[in-house]
Amino acid sequence: MIKIRSAEILSVGTELLLGDIVNTDSAFISRRLAALGINQYYQGVVGDNPERLESALSLSLSRSDLVILTGGLGPTYDDLTKETAARLMGRSMYLHEESLQRMMARFEKRGLTMTENNKKQAYMPEGAIVFKNDYGTAPGLAMEDEEKGKIIIMLPGPPRECEPLFSEQVEPYLRGFSDRVFFSKTVNIFGMGESRVESILREEMLGASNPTVAPYAKDGEVQLRVTASGKSEAECVEMCDREIEKIKATEVGGFIYGVDAGSLEDALVAELIRQNKKIACAESCTGGYVAKRITNVSGSSAVLDGSIVTYANRVKEKFVGVSHETLEAHGAVSRETAIEMARGVKELFGADIGISTTGVAGPTGGTPEKPVGRVYVGVVCDGYEEVRELNIGNGLQTREYVRYVSASNALDLARRAITK
Ligand code: ATP
Repeated sequence: MIKIRSAEILSVGTELLLGDIVNTDSAFISRRLAALGINQYYQGVVGDNPERLESALSLSLSRSDLVILTGGLGPTYDDLTKETAARLMGRSMYLHEESLQRMMARFEKRGLTMTENNKKQAYMPEGAIVFKNDYGTAPGLAMEDEEKGKIIIMLPGPPRECEPLFSEQVEPYLRGFSDRVFFSKTVNIFGMGESRVESILREEMLGASNPTVAPYAKDGEVQLRVTASGKSEAECVEMCDREIEKIKATEVGGFIYGVDAGSLEDALVAELIRQNKKIACAESCTGGYVAKRITNVSGSSAVLDGSIVTYANRVKEKFVGVSHETLEAHGAVSRETAIEMARGVKELFGADIGISTTGVAGPTGGTPEKPVGRVYVGVVCDGYEEVRELNIGNGLQTREYVRYVSASNALDLARRAITK
Protein backbone atom coordinates (compact mmCIF):
# COMPACT_ATOMS: atom_id res chain seq x y z
CA MET A 1 0.00 0.00 0.00
CA ILE A 2 1.21 3.51 -0.81
CA LYS A 3 2.33 5.44 2.23
CA ILE A 4 1.20 9.06 2.27
CA ARG A 5 3.76 11.01 4.27
CA SER A 6 3.12 14.35 2.64
CA ALA A 7 0.68 15.99 0.28
CA GLU A 8 0.74 19.02 -1.95
CA ILE A 9 -2.08 20.97 -3.58
CA LEU A 10 -1.54 22.31 -7.08
CA SER A 11 -4.34 24.54 -8.32
CA VAL A 12 -4.70 25.02 -12.05
CA GLY A 13 -6.12 28.20 -13.54
CA THR A 14 -4.83 31.40 -15.08
CA GLU A 15 -7.63 33.31 -13.34
CA LEU A 16 -6.03 32.36 -10.00
CA LEU A 17 -2.71 33.82 -11.12
CA LEU A 18 -4.41 37.02 -12.22
CA GLY A 19 -6.11 37.39 -8.88
CA ASP A 20 -9.53 37.22 -10.50
CA ILE A 21 -10.58 34.49 -8.08
CA VAL A 22 -9.38 33.53 -4.64
CA ASN A 23 -8.05 30.01 -4.14
CA THR A 24 -10.73 28.82 -1.74
CA ASP A 25 -10.40 25.22 -2.97
CA SER A 26 -6.89 25.03 -1.66
CA ALA A 27 -7.86 26.63 1.68
CA PHE A 28 -10.68 24.11 2.05
CA ILE A 29 -8.59 21.06 1.13
CA SER A 30 -5.70 22.21 3.34
CA ARG A 31 -7.95 22.34 6.38
CA ARG A 32 -9.27 18.88 5.60
CA LEU A 33 -5.80 17.42 5.05
CA ALA A 34 -4.67 18.85 8.38
CA ALA A 35 -7.66 17.23 10.06
CA LEU A 36 -6.74 13.93 8.39
CA GLY A 37 -3.26 14.24 9.85
CA ILE A 38 -1.64 14.51 6.39
CA ASN A 39 1.29 16.94 6.29
CA GLN A 40 1.58 19.56 3.61
CA TYR A 41 4.92 21.25 2.97
CA TYR A 42 4.29 22.90 -0.40
CA GLN A 43 1.41 24.39 -2.36
CA GLY A 44 1.23 25.84 -5.84
CA VAL A 45 -0.77 27.59 -8.53
CA VAL A 46 -0.11 27.16 -12.23
CA GLY A 47 -1.79 28.71 -15.28
CA ASP A 48 -3.66 26.90 -18.02
CA ASN A 49 -0.57 25.88 -19.98
CA PRO A 50 0.34 22.22 -20.56
CA GLU A 51 4.14 22.60 -20.47
CA ARG A 52 4.16 24.63 -17.28
CA LEU A 53 1.55 22.34 -15.69
CA GLU A 54 3.69 19.32 -16.55
CA SER A 55 6.81 20.82 -15.04
CA ALA A 56 4.97 21.99 -11.90
CA LEU A 57 3.36 18.57 -11.49
CA SER A 58 6.72 16.77 -11.95
CA LEU A 59 8.23 18.95 -9.27
CA SER A 60 5.31 18.31 -6.91
CA LEU A 61 5.56 14.53 -7.47
CA SER A 62 9.31 14.61 -6.82
CA ARG A 63 8.78 15.90 -3.28
CA SER A 64 5.27 14.80 -2.19
CA ASP A 65 3.56 11.39 -2.09
CA LEU A 66 0.13 12.82 -2.85
CA VAL A 67 -0.59 15.68 -5.25
CA ILE A 68 -4.09 17.10 -5.36
CA LEU A 69 -4.89 19.08 -8.50
CA THR A 70 -7.90 21.38 -8.62
CA GLY A 71 -9.42 22.91 -11.76
CA GLY A 72 -8.93 22.40 -15.45
CA LEU A 73 -11.23 19.37 -15.72
CA GLY A 74 -13.82 21.21 -17.83
CA PRO A 75 -14.77 20.67 -21.46
CA THR A 76 -12.87 23.56 -23.01
CA TYR A 77 -9.50 23.55 -24.79
CA ASP A 78 -7.68 25.10 -21.83
CA ASP A 79 -8.90 22.41 -19.43
CA LEU A 80 -5.96 20.07 -19.66
CA THR A 81 -5.23 18.79 -16.18
CA LYS A 82 -6.31 15.19 -16.76
CA GLU A 83 -4.48 14.74 -20.04
CA THR A 84 -1.26 16.24 -18.66
CA ALA A 85 -1.32 14.12 -15.51
CA ALA A 86 -2.07 10.97 -17.54
CA ARG A 87 0.84 11.67 -19.88
CA LEU A 88 3.15 12.14 -16.92
CA MET A 89 2.12 8.82 -15.40
CA GLY A 90 2.33 7.11 -18.79
CA ARG A 91 -1.39 6.28 -19.00
CA SER A 92 -3.56 6.35 -22.09
CA MET A 93 -7.10 7.71 -22.01
CA TYR A 94 -10.30 5.71 -22.49
CA LEU A 95 -13.98 6.60 -22.56
CA HIS A 96 -15.42 5.88 -19.10
CA GLU A 97 -18.89 4.72 -20.05
CA GLU A 98 -20.49 5.26 -16.62
CA SER A 99 -19.34 8.90 -16.50
CA LEU A 100 -20.65 9.46 -20.03
CA GLN A 101 -24.05 8.02 -19.09
CA ARG A 102 -24.23 10.17 -15.95
CA MET A 103 -23.36 13.29 -17.94
CA MET A 104 -25.93 12.51 -20.63
CA ALA A 105 -28.60 11.95 -17.99
CA ARG A 106 -27.68 15.23 -16.32
CA PHE A 107 -28.00 17.17 -19.59
CA GLU A 108 -31.27 15.44 -20.45
CA LYS A 109 -32.76 16.19 -17.04
CA ARG A 110 -32.03 19.87 -17.57
CA GLY A 111 -33.40 19.82 -21.12
CA LEU A 112 -29.97 20.69 -22.57
CA THR A 113 -28.10 19.17 -25.46
CA MET A 114 -24.70 17.75 -24.65
CA THR A 115 -22.04 19.12 -26.97
CA GLU A 116 -19.25 16.96 -28.37
CA ASN A 117 -16.58 18.69 -26.26
CA ASN A 118 -18.45 17.78 -23.05
CA LYS A 119 -17.67 14.17 -23.89
CA LYS A 120 -14.02 14.99 -23.15
CA GLN A 121 -14.90 15.07 -19.47
CA ALA A 122 -15.87 11.40 -19.56
CA TYR A 123 -12.42 10.28 -20.76
CA MET A 124 -10.29 8.85 -17.99
CA PRO A 125 -6.69 7.69 -17.69
CA GLU A 126 -6.34 3.88 -17.64
CA GLY A 127 -6.61 2.50 -14.10
CA ALA A 128 -8.05 5.71 -12.63
CA ILE A 129 -10.39 5.63 -9.65
CA VAL A 130 -13.37 7.80 -10.59
CA PHE A 131 -15.15 10.06 -8.09
CA LYS A 132 -18.64 10.58 -9.53
CA ASN A 133 -19.84 14.16 -9.55
CA ASP A 134 -23.45 14.79 -8.44
CA TYR A 135 -22.82 18.53 -8.34
CA GLY A 136 -21.57 19.20 -11.88
CA THR A 137 -20.43 17.42 -15.01
CA ALA A 138 -16.69 16.75 -14.60
CA PRO A 139 -15.98 13.73 -12.38
CA GLY A 140 -12.96 13.78 -10.08
CA LEU A 141 -10.38 11.01 -10.17
CA ALA A 142 -7.32 9.47 -8.56
CA MET A 143 -4.35 7.77 -10.21
CA GLU A 144 -2.08 5.58 -8.15
CA ASP A 145 1.48 4.63 -9.08
CA GLU A 146 2.30 1.76 -6.71
CA GLU A 147 5.85 1.42 -7.98
CA LYS A 148 6.80 5.02 -7.33
CA GLY A 149 4.52 5.31 -4.29
CA LYS A 150 2.69 8.34 -5.70
CA ILE A 151 -0.94 9.37 -5.97
CA ILE A 152 -2.46 12.16 -8.08
CA ILE A 153 -6.00 13.28 -7.27
CA MET A 154 -7.88 15.62 -9.59
CA LEU A 155 -10.94 17.63 -8.61
CA PRO A 156 -13.12 20.12 -10.51
CA GLY A 157 -12.41 23.81 -9.83
CA PRO A 158 -15.84 25.20 -8.86
CA PRO A 159 -15.97 25.11 -5.04
CA ARG A 160 -19.57 23.89 -5.04
CA GLU A 161 -18.27 20.74 -6.79
CA CYS A 162 -14.77 20.49 -5.35
CA GLU A 163 -15.76 20.71 -1.69
CA PRO A 164 -18.53 18.07 -1.57
CA LEU A 165 -16.52 15.71 -3.79
CA PHE A 166 -13.62 16.01 -1.39
CA SER A 167 -15.74 15.51 1.74
CA GLU A 168 -17.89 12.69 0.41
CA GLN A 169 -15.43 10.66 -1.65
CA VAL A 170 -11.82 11.78 -1.39
CA GLU A 171 -11.71 11.85 2.42
CA PRO A 172 -12.95 8.25 2.80
CA TYR A 173 -10.53 7.23 0.02
CA LEU A 174 -7.58 8.86 1.81
CA ARG A 175 -8.55 7.36 5.16
CA GLY A 176 -7.97 3.97 3.53
CA PHE A 177 -4.23 4.72 3.46
CA SER A 178 -3.95 5.10 7.22
CA ASP A 179 -4.43 2.63 10.06
CA ARG A 180 -5.54 5.53 12.26
CA VAL A 181 -9.10 6.82 12.26
CA PHE A 182 -9.74 10.56 12.27
CA PHE A 183 -12.95 12.16 13.41
CA SER A 184 -13.95 15.81 13.71
CA LYS A 185 -16.73 17.76 15.32
CA THR A 186 -17.38 21.45 14.77
CA VAL A 187 -18.39 23.72 17.63
CA ASN A 188 -20.47 26.67 16.40
CA ILE A 189 -19.99 29.96 18.22
CA PHE A 190 -21.76 33.28 17.75
CA GLY A 191 -21.34 36.56 19.59
CA MET A 192 -17.71 36.18 20.65
CA GLY A 193 -14.77 37.14 18.42
CA GLU A 194 -11.99 34.76 17.36
CA SER A 195 -9.24 36.45 19.38
CA ARG A 196 -11.38 36.39 22.53
CA VAL A 197 -12.16 32.69 21.99
CA GLU A 198 -8.45 31.98 21.50
CA SER A 199 -7.43 33.91 24.57
CA ILE A 200 -9.93 32.00 26.73
CA LEU A 201 -9.01 28.56 25.38
CA ARG A 202 -5.30 29.29 25.73
CA GLU A 203 -2.32 27.16 24.91
CA GLU A 204 -3.21 23.89 26.63
CA MET A 205 -6.25 23.46 24.43
CA LEU A 206 -5.17 25.11 21.19
CA GLY A 207 -1.66 23.66 21.40
CA ALA A 208 -2.74 20.06 22.08
CA SER A 209 -2.03 17.51 19.38
CA ASN A 210 -4.81 14.98 20.01
CA PRO A 211 -7.52 16.10 19.85
CA THR A 212 -6.58 19.25 17.97
CA VAL A 213 -8.75 22.32 18.40
CA ALA A 214 -8.59 24.71 15.46
CA PRO A 215 -10.53 28.00 15.45
CA TYR A 216 -11.83 29.52 12.19
CA ALA A 217 -13.51 32.90 11.92
CA LYS A 218 -16.07 33.32 9.17
CA ASP A 219 -18.73 35.97 8.50
CA GLY A 220 -18.92 37.19 12.08
CA GLU A 221 -18.91 33.68 13.53
CA VAL A 222 -16.26 31.40 15.00
CA GLN A 223 -16.03 27.67 14.49
CA LEU A 224 -13.84 25.33 16.47
CA ARG A 225 -12.95 22.17 14.63
CA VAL A 226 -12.12 19.48 17.17
CA THR A 227 -10.32 16.53 15.58
CA ALA A 228 -9.28 13.34 17.30
CA SER A 229 -7.29 10.42 15.94
CA GLY A 230 -7.52 6.96 17.42
CA LYS A 231 -8.04 3.27 16.73
CA SER A 232 -11.79 3.46 16.18
CA GLU A 233 -14.42 6.07 15.43
CA ALA A 234 -16.08 5.42 18.79
CA GLU A 235 -12.83 6.20 20.58
CA CYS A 236 -12.43 9.44 18.57
CA VAL A 237 -16.03 10.53 19.19
CA GLU A 238 -15.48 10.10 22.92
CA MET A 239 -12.26 12.10 22.80
CA CYS A 240 -13.98 14.91 20.85
CA ASP A 241 -16.95 14.95 23.24
CA ARG A 242 -14.67 15.16 26.28
CA GLU A 243 -12.82 18.09 24.72
CA ILE A 244 -16.07 19.84 23.80
CA GLU A 245 -17.30 19.50 27.38
CA LYS A 246 -14.10 21.24 28.53
CA ILE A 247 -14.75 24.05 26.04
CA LYS A 248 -18.36 24.36 27.19
CA ALA A 249 -17.20 24.75 30.76
CA THR A 250 -15.27 27.93 29.87
CA GLU A 251 -16.72 31.38 29.21
CA VAL A 252 -16.96 30.40 25.53
CA GLY A 253 -19.76 27.99 26.51
CA GLY A 254 -22.34 30.78 26.71
CA PHE A 255 -21.79 31.60 23.05
CA ILE A 256 -22.00 28.09 21.63
CA TYR A 257 -25.12 27.62 19.56
CA GLY A 258 -24.49 24.04 18.62
CA VAL A 259 -22.13 21.24 17.73
CA ASP A 260 -22.18 20.35 14.03
CA ALA A 261 -25.19 22.68 13.94
CA GLY A 262 -24.49 23.94 10.40
CA SER A 263 -25.52 27.58 10.54
CA LEU A 264 -27.47 29.92 12.82
CA GLU A 265 -30.52 29.46 10.59
CA ASP A 266 -30.18 25.67 10.70
CA ALA A 267 -30.05 25.78 14.50
CA LEU A 268 -33.04 28.14 14.72
CA VAL A 269 -35.22 26.17 12.31
CA ALA A 270 -34.36 22.89 14.08
CA GLU A 271 -35.35 24.38 17.44
CA LEU A 272 -38.57 25.87 16.05
CA ILE A 273 -39.51 22.51 14.56
CA ARG A 274 -38.71 20.80 17.85
CA GLN A 275 -40.95 23.22 19.74
CA ASN A 276 -43.58 23.30 16.97
CA LYS A 277 -43.48 27.11 16.82
CA LYS A 278 -43.82 29.63 14.00
CA ILE A 279 -41.78 32.72 13.36
CA ALA A 280 -42.36 35.87 11.30
CA CYS A 281 -39.94 38.69 10.47
CA ALA A 282 -40.34 42.40 9.81
CA GLU A 283 -37.16 43.58 8.16
CA SER A 284 -35.91 47.02 7.36
CA CYS A 285 -32.14 47.30 6.86
CA THR A 286 -31.73 43.58 6.09
CA GLY A 287 -34.26 43.80 3.26
CA GLY A 288 -35.38 40.18 3.50
CA TYR A 289 -32.01 38.66 4.43
CA VAL A 290 -33.36 37.05 7.62
CA ALA A 291 -36.24 35.44 5.74
CA LYS A 292 -33.91 34.36 2.96
CA ARG A 293 -31.60 32.63 5.41
CA ILE A 294 -34.49 30.90 7.17
CA THR A 295 -35.88 29.70 3.84
CA ASN A 296 -32.42 28.44 2.86
CA VAL A 297 -33.10 25.63 5.31
CA SER A 298 -35.02 22.73 3.91
CA GLY A 299 -38.14 22.14 6.00
CA SER A 300 -38.48 25.83 6.94
CA SER A 301 -42.06 25.95 5.60
CA ALA A 302 -43.09 24.24 8.83
CA VAL A 303 -41.93 27.25 10.85
CA LEU A 304 -42.29 30.29 8.58
CA ASP A 305 -45.66 31.34 7.13
CA GLY A 306 -44.47 34.71 5.93
CA SER A 307 -42.28 37.69 6.38
CA ILE A 308 -42.37 41.34 5.38
CA VAL A 309 -39.88 43.98 4.30
CA THR A 310 -40.99 47.25 5.91
CA TYR A 311 -38.44 49.65 4.50
CA ALA A 312 -40.32 52.95 4.46
CA ASN A 313 -41.71 54.48 7.66
CA ARG A 314 -45.14 54.62 6.04
CA VAL A 315 -45.01 50.86 5.51
CA LYS A 316 -43.79 50.26 9.07
CA GLU A 317 -46.88 52.10 10.28
CA LYS A 318 -49.36 50.60 7.86
CA PHE A 319 -48.41 46.92 7.92
CA VAL A 320 -46.77 46.20 11.27
CA GLY A 321 -48.40 48.91 13.32
CA VAL A 322 -45.40 50.98 14.39
CA SER A 323 -46.96 54.12 15.86
CA HIS A 324 -46.47 57.45 14.19
CA GLU A 325 -45.47 58.93 17.56
CA THR A 326 -42.71 56.32 18.04
CA LEU A 327 -41.26 57.10 14.63
CA GLU A 328 -41.48 60.85 15.27
CA ALA A 329 -39.98 60.67 18.73
CA HIS A 330 -37.27 58.01 18.28
CA GLY A 331 -36.81 57.57 14.54
CA ALA A 332 -36.89 54.37 12.50
CA VAL A 333 -33.51 53.25 13.84
CA SER A 334 -34.39 52.84 17.49
CA ARG A 335 -35.14 50.28 20.17
CA GLU A 336 -38.74 51.45 20.28
CA THR A 337 -39.34 50.97 16.55
CA ALA A 338 -37.60 47.56 16.59
CA ILE A 339 -39.82 46.20 19.33
CA GLU A 340 -43.00 47.56 17.78
CA MET A 341 -42.04 45.96 14.46
CA ALA A 342 -41.50 42.60 16.18
CA ARG A 343 -44.81 42.85 18.03
CA GLY A 344 -46.62 43.95 14.87
CA VAL A 345 -45.30 41.21 12.62
CA LYS A 346 -46.05 38.53 15.21
CA GLU A 347 -49.62 39.78 15.22
CA LEU A 348 -49.83 40.21 11.43
CA PHE A 349 -48.89 36.60 10.73
CA GLY A 350 -50.34 35.09 13.90
CA ALA A 351 -46.90 33.68 14.68
CA ASP A 352 -45.45 32.58 18.03
CA ILE A 353 -42.32 34.66 17.58
CA GLY A 354 -41.82 38.02 15.88
CA ILE A 355 -38.37 39.31 14.97
CA SER A 356 -37.29 42.63 13.49
CA THR A 357 -34.29 44.51 12.13
CA THR A 358 -33.86 48.23 11.66
CA GLY A 359 -30.58 50.08 11.25
CA VAL A 360 -28.05 52.00 9.18
CA ALA A 361 -26.38 49.61 6.72
CA GLY A 362 -24.24 52.37 5.14
CA PRO A 363 -21.98 53.38 3.65
CA THR A 364 -24.10 56.56 3.55
CA GLY A 365 -26.88 57.61 5.90
CA GLY A 366 -24.97 57.59 9.18
CA THR A 367 -25.22 60.46 11.68
CA PRO A 368 -23.21 61.14 14.85
CA GLU A 369 -26.11 59.77 16.95
CA LYS A 370 -26.85 56.87 14.62
CA PRO A 371 -23.63 55.91 12.82
CA VAL A 372 -23.25 53.34 10.05
CA GLY A 373 -23.45 49.89 11.62
CA ARG A 374 -25.96 50.90 14.33
CA VAL A 375 -28.70 48.32 14.09
CA TYR A 376 -31.48 47.23 16.43
CA VAL A 377 -32.81 43.69 16.27
CA GLY A 378 -35.90 42.83 18.24
CA VAL A 379 -37.69 39.69 19.35
CA VAL A 380 -41.09 39.07 20.90
CA CYS A 381 -42.27 35.64 22.06
CA ASP A 382 -44.38 34.20 24.86
CA GLY A 383 -44.50 37.52 26.71
CA TYR A 384 -40.73 37.83 26.43
CA GLU A 385 -39.35 40.92 24.65
CA GLU A 386 -35.79 41.94 23.91
CA VAL A 387 -33.97 44.40 21.68
CA ARG A 388 -30.28 44.05 20.95
CA GLU A 389 -28.33 47.15 19.94
CA LEU A 390 -25.53 46.44 17.50
CA ASN A 391 -22.64 48.62 16.44
CA ILE A 392 -21.18 46.63 13.58
CA GLY A 393 -17.66 47.25 12.38
CA ASN A 394 -17.24 50.87 13.56
CA GLY A 395 -18.44 52.10 10.18
CA LEU A 396 -15.53 50.32 8.48
CA GLN A 397 -17.42 47.31 7.21
CA THR A 398 -19.25 46.95 3.91
CA ARG A 399 -23.01 47.28 3.54
CA GLU A 400 -23.16 43.56 2.77
CA TYR A 401 -21.34 42.68 5.99
CA VAL A 402 -23.52 44.94 8.15
CA ARG A 403 -26.65 43.39 6.68
CA TYR A 404 -25.36 39.83 7.01
CA VAL A 405 -24.28 40.23 10.63
CA SER A 406 -27.56 42.01 11.48
CA ALA A 407 -29.45 39.01 10.09
CA SER A 408 -27.17 36.67 12.08
CA ASN A 409 -27.98 38.57 15.26
CA ALA A 410 -31.72 38.40 14.58
CA LEU A 411 -31.46 34.62 14.07
CA ASP A 412 -29.37 34.25 17.23
CA LEU A 413 -31.69 36.43 19.30
CA ALA A 414 -34.71 34.42 18.19
CA ARG A 415 -33.04 31.09 19.04
CA ARG A 416 -31.98 32.34 22.44
CA ALA A 417 -35.45 33.70 23.17
CA ILE A 418 -37.15 30.37 22.50
CA THR A 419 -34.59 28.35 24.44
CA LYS A 420 -34.66 30.60 27.54
P1 ATP B 1 -15.59 23.53 -15.28
O1 ATP B 1 -16.22 22.23 -15.65
O2 ATP B 1 -16.58 24.47 -14.63
O3 ATP B 1 -14.79 24.17 -16.40
P2 ATP B 1 -12.98 23.00 -14.15
O4 ATP B 1 -12.58 21.87 -13.28
O5 ATP B 1 -12.44 23.03 -15.51
O6 ATP B 1 -14.55 23.12 -14.11
P3 ATP B 1 -11.92 25.60 -14.01
O7 ATP B 1 -12.37 25.79 -15.41
O8 ATP B 1 -10.48 25.58 -13.74
O9 ATP B 1 -12.56 24.29 -13.40
O10 ATP B 1 -12.61 26.65 -13.07
C1 ATP B 1 -14.01 26.88 -13.15
C2 ATP B 1 -14.39 27.92 -12.11
O11 ATP B 1 -14.24 27.35 -10.82
C3 ATP B 1 -13.51 29.15 -12.06
O12 ATP B 1 -13.89 30.14 -12.97
C4 ATP B 1 -13.67 29.60 -10.64
O13 ATP B 1 -14.87 30.34 -10.51
C5 ATP B 1 -13.79 28.29 -9.89
N1 ATP B 1 -12.47 27.85 -9.40
C6 ATP B 1 -11.51 27.20 -10.08
N2 ATP B 1 -10.46 26.93 -9.31
C7 ATP B 1 -10.73 27.44 -8.09
C8 ATP B 1 -10.03 27.48 -6.86
N3 ATP B 1 -8.83 26.92 -6.73
N4 ATP B 1 -10.62 28.09 -5.81
C9 ATP B 1 -11.86 28.65 -5.94
N5 ATP B 1 -12.57 28.63 -7.08
C10 ATP B 1 -12.02 28.04 -8.15
